[in-house]
Amino acid sequence: MSVTDDLQPSSKSGGPPAVGERSQQAYRRARAVFPDGTTRISIERDPLPRYVSRGDGAYLWDLDDRRFLDLNNNYTTLIHGHAYAPVAETLTRQLADGSCFANPTESEIALAGLLCERIPHIDRVRFMNSGTEAVMFAIKAARAYSGRPAIAKIEGAFHGSYDWAEVGQASTPDNWGSAQQPASTAFYRGMPQSVLDDVVILPLNAIDIARKLLRQHAGRLAALLLDPMPSRAGLIALDPDYIAAISEICNACGILIISDEVLNLRQSYRGAAHRYGLKADLFSLGKIIGGGLPIGAVGGREEVMTVFDGSRGRPALPQGGTFSANPLSMAAGYAAMAALDDAAFAHLESLGDHIRDGLSAAIERHDAPFSVTGAASLLRLHPRRSAPRNFREAFLTPAGKAAMTALSRFYGHHGVLLPRETCASLSTPMTVTDARHVVAVFDAFLAEQRELFPTLERDGAAP
Ligand code: PMP
Repeated sequence: MSVTDDLQPSSKSGGPPAVGERSQQAYRRARAVFPDGTTRISIERDPLPRYVSRGDGAYLWDLDDRRFLDLNNNYTTLIHGHAYAPVAETLTRQLADGSCFANPTESEIALAGLLCERIPHIDRVRFMNSGTEAVMFAIKAARAYSGRPAIAKIEGAFHGSYDWAEVGQASTPDNWGSAQQPASTAFYRGMPQSVLDDVVILPLNAIDIARKLLRQHAGRLAALLLDPMPSRAGLIALDPDYIAAISEICNACGILIISDEVLNLRQSYRGAAHRYGLKADLFSLGKIIGGGLPIGAVGGREEVMTVFDGSRGRPALPQGGTFSANPLSMAAGYAAMAALDDAAFAHLESLGDHIRDGLSAAIERHDAPFSVTGAASLLRLHPRRSAPRNFREAFLTPAGKAAMTALSRFYGHHGVLLPRETCASLSTPMTVTDARHVVAVFDAFLAEQRELFPTLERDGAAP
């Protein structure tokens, strides 16, 4: 059956409710125990969340036993897809030997060794349990090293849930201020003003403004927190000239550069900083390095990482954590990372190119107000004609949001889970047939939904 054969007549208006009867039943039970029926703000709902029963490779099944190609992969974590056999096998073995100890295990040395060997400028590592913690400890390490309190970060970039990293993460046209001086906006009601005062927001890829702001605050800045391709800010790469300009100032002013690769480590065998020519002092890692189990890590230059060194008394930065370096996460992470060889990355890169090129060709064919950004195994569709160049351009207007909801629902009806407001990611078990399906569904969407185009041309892009 071709993609267009199984279109429902009602799909013109986005189709019937996206989730089935069993997900609806589960959600009714969940409403009784969670404040909004879920336990993560990131759970997508249309209008309800889809509950999952199991996953296998590139696919997952919902409670109503419908199969979906998973382009979310738990927000880019599952680079080998679901239930990856080498991870499942190592976990079964490790579980039989115990799940966590107050003592170190050899498994942590193996995973840290792999990271030090692969990622340039990582000489030493510390493990924790989430990307949020990794960013938090990277920021604290920079503070402990420099004795300074503040950080700079890119407007709209997502770095998890540590207060200072949250500032400016959810700015809107109503509060984001001028382009010359982006506002340090609160992420939640009651966020202390002192936190806002210690975060400088830089516009993405605007060299002169970033230079000026960094110089202005240099004496207070411990670190510049950067994601080489911030997904929520548009999945847009840092320009080489921007990297060169801000690195020069940071080096001259003693501001440490943190490369947050919790998401973007999956861009190459040696990570994202290496791919984009960014020389970082510290790295925050997570997601793929845990093989599907909770994990976070800080890595960096030997000299900077001495802030964690407790071998001669209390370190500059004490860091613990009951589950840090638990052997389950260590073993799963090692199994997943060891399988990511050059061939695996080449496969992901070529699938990513295939899909991005196919989506772009469909956009051109239909003369549609959409664009695509991304690299390697990551991609993001934008409901605007020219690819966004920064967070403000990638910001979804109500019309843009409605278009992305319609698109994601359309994909759902054709057996594909496409994240609505952040990037899609690929996994190693995905095939060229899967990639072709992703492109064909988009092509069918554009053919069917032409009536969206004029509204998007008018209101789809942020002012
Ligand atoms: N930094 C980046 C760049 C991320 O993408 C994320 C998670 N999406 C985090 C930090 C936080 O990681 P976690 O959800 O594991 O706390």
